[in-house]
Amino acid sequence: MARKILMIDDDRLQHRLIQAHFRHFRVEPYELDWAGTYEEGLERLMSGGYAACLLDFQLGGRDGLQLIREAVGRGCRTPIIFLTAESSQTVDIEAMNAGALDYLVKGEIAPASLERSIRYALKLGETLDALHRLATRDELTGLVNRREFDRLLDAEWTRARSFGHRLALAMVDIDHFKLVNDRRGHPAGDAVLREVARRLRGAVRPVDIVARFGGEEFALVLIEAGPDGARRAALAACEAVRGHAVESGEGPPLELTVSAGWAVAPENAASASELVAAADRALYAAKGQGRNRVAGPGGAQA
Ligand code: GH3
Ligand code: MG
Ligand code: MG
Repeated sequence: MARKILMIDDDRLQHRLIQAHFRHFRVEPYELDWAGTYEEGLERLMSGGYAACLLDFQLGGRDGLQLIREAVGRGCRTPIIFLTAESSQTVDIEAMNAGALDYLVKGEIAPASLERSIRYALKLGETLDALHRLATRDELTGLVNRREFDRLLDAEWTRARSFGHRLALAMVDIDHFKLVNDRRGHPAGDAVLREVARRLRGAVRPVDIVARFGGEEFALVLIEAGPDGARRAALAACEAVRGHAVESGEGPPLELTVSAGWAVAPENAASASELVAAADRALYAAKGQGRNRVAGPGGAQA
């Protein structure tokens, strides 16, 4: 299927011109979608599904730069190419600073230059995606890594505080994991970590964040969850692991358990790092109480 390109331009004629250029592309056909206003353009861009975006610099009196900033601020990483009415160094620099990958002067666009610009933007976009993935994901499990967890938790903390919402955190640690490595070898341990990660991801809601906190310890950021939701999620995490034996790729499947500790803001913490500390203390309590269980703030058993 052809990759989709979004054009955001208030001028319908421009859209027709670009559409006509698209028909002359030689290497790869793309499908062109069009949005005629700032709001519609932003909404479509944020909905995803576009491989690249052609964005008008002056969008019916609205600022295309502002649209890029707003989209990037909301986490959009679709490559954007600016379309401007005239060539100017100021525009060029401003566009790049806002996050555009290239800019084209409307009167000078020819099919070949447009195609080339789109191809380069797509390629660069893929490279940036790969870099972003490397920087934010744990390589073994594909979960959010520790650094990205810290960043996301801070962002969720700020959001929860400003909207007066709750935020919960559960820390989950595999019980006696060292034995898996000792008895089955490190690659089997890796396979177990991948499978446990997959089950934890499936045990919580899509909006929740599942991170590899380190080693065989995982963190679940439970958006807008109070004590009941946090306890439920922690219990679901335990159940997801002990419910079925885990294949390690070496010997028979393993009966594994995890321990979990949870805490909730604002009740148990006045900062994101205090929330982590409170959930970690609860996890420690669950371990002390015999493992394969959930504990809440102050070590209270679930
Ligand atoms: P507890 O129930 O108290 O949590 O005991 P445990 O054995 O699970 O905990 P401990 O902290 O003693 O051991 C964790 C082990 O996890 C030690 C470390 O070698 C192993 N580990 C950490 N990261 C990885 C990894 O990426 N792959 C593998 N295979 N093992 C790992
Ligand atoms: Mg452990
Ligand atoms: Mg551990």
